[in-house]
Amino acid sequence: MSNRTFACLNCRKLQRKPQAIAAFACPSCRSDCIRVHWKLRVPAPRKRRKWDRFWAQYLLERRTIALFHDGQLNDEVYLPLLNRRLIPSA
Ligand SMILES: [Zn+2]
Repeated sequence: MSNRTFACLNCRKLQRKPQAIAAFACPSCRSDCIRVHWKLRVPAPRKRRKWDRFWAQYLLERRTIALFHDGQLNDEVYLPLLNRRLIPSA
């Protein structure tokens, strides 16, 4: 079974875990780690500016996808990180 990258945004840490795990609490701070989409490469945590920019964009794209599935998206949106185009059905 392959592993996925999980990130704790609190501690700025990345960890590899089996992909079957959906959520997992950070061993240091106990907050929920975020499972990263397998296609994405997360910037190194010590590159703070890149890291921050990556997570701001990634969380935005995840929220946008959630809105899309809720039917709350009215316009077509392109998500550059995930390389996905969301087209609401009229
Ligand atoms: Zn943590």
